[in-house]
Amino acid sequence: MESPFCRILSRVLKRCGSAAQELRIVIADDSGIIREHLQRAISRTKGLKLVGAAENGVEALSLVQELNPDVAILDISMPHKNGLEVLKEIRRNDSSTVIIMFTGETSELLKNTCLEQGANHFFCKSDITAMLEKCQDLLLRS
Ligand SMILES: [Mg+2]
Repeated sequence: MESPFCRILSRVLKRCGSAAQELRIVIADDSGIIREHLQRAISRTKGLKLVGAAENGVEALSLVQELNPDVAILDISMPHKNGLEVLKEIRRNDSSTVIIMFTGETSELLKNTCLEQGANHFFCKSDITAMLEKCQDLLLRS
């Protein structure tokens, strides 16, 4: 039987094994300016790594399915599939990806709808710093 000591040791070793621990992030936004802005901000933030960028909802969904990122940052207003539809489909596939809605719309109703549909967090685009701090926080808790 595994002793508590072994369990702790294996947990420590596991953590050491992934020494370059980074939070793998996919972003989705139809605005090239926002994508670039996010890309730059993520690359400047310790512990965060951008692994994919989508410019519409269909691309976002396939990137999330293909890359299984730790976090998906989704715009809501996007062509082909909006962020809410992408959110629903990701959750339908039972993915463990943390979903952060990152939108220009600030309505409480929209926020509550997203959270009810399985989004983990909701940030307004003017709150990029708070959003990235949340990502770093997720890394510390992982
Ligand atoms: Mg948009």
